[in-house]
Amino acid sequence: SRGEESTPATHRSYTIQRNFTLSATAFSSLSLHPGLLQNLSTLGYHSMTPIQAQSLPSILAGKDVIAQGKTGSGKTAAFGLGLLNKLDIKRFCVQALVLCPTRELADQVAKEIRRLARAIHNIKVLTLCGGMPFGPQIGSLEHGAHIVVGTPGRVEEHLRKGTLVLDQLHTLVLDEADRMLEMGFQAALDAIVEKMPAQRQTLLFSATYPNQIQSIAERVMLNPVMVKVESSH
Ligand code: ADP
Ligand code: MG
Repeated sequence: SRGEESTPATHRSYTIQRNFTLSATAFSSLSLHPGLLQNLSTLGYHSMTPIQAQSLPSILAGKDVIAQGKTGSGKTAAFGLGLLNKLDIKRFCVQALVLCPTRELADQVAKEIRRLARAIHNIKVLTLCGGMPFGPQIGSLEHGAHIVVGTPGRVEEHLRKGTLVLDQLHTLVLDEADRMLEMGFQAALDAIVEKMPAQRQTLLFSATYPNQIQSIAERVMLNPVMVKVESSH
């Protein structure tokens, strides 16, 4: 029949398109540590979300990245996998700092990073947020950490006191950067960036991209790659 005659060509083009899509969104197409890849499949993360597929190759290549995408698009794993893949677990010092606008968001981010890092033993992720007593935070900092997740005000206070040192930092993440600026954290952000190595990778995540974000990006980033995803999935 006519239907059968046209099948091969149609089928072939469909297969090519489908293979292309699969290879472009599989986490295994990235140069991630085998332990991280294995853990992603245990977590049920079988393919990258659009923002992950667009940003992870640049993030893993060590570039500065500005990623704009809605809530729920999977931004935490995009930067989380980037900083975990670079982490040297044997060096017990703060190698990555993630700044978030609120304590609730910082707790969520720390939880997701710990989930992603389950395959890495003895990794220490510490949260440093305002509204919490200083004593336990200082005690935890004395014990050491690989990754700090916190709010700008409190992180800046620890830097000023000398209880947090960032001279070994290799990754800075500004998560929900637009909300951090709305909340008046601009001065704290500038003070924090001043106390870390200029040679580092900076990743900026935001739902929107107002002029204020563009100006902070110009100050704290170097030739950033821009990624924008409209829909959440
Ligand atoms: P955002 O920061 O962009 O708002 P999140 O990082 O909080 O989004 O991710 C939203 C949800 O999607 C989380 O529950 C997370 O566990 C899940 N998620 C992220 N990436 C993937 C993926 N590749 N596959 C399946 N689930 C994912
Ligand atoms: Mg988020």
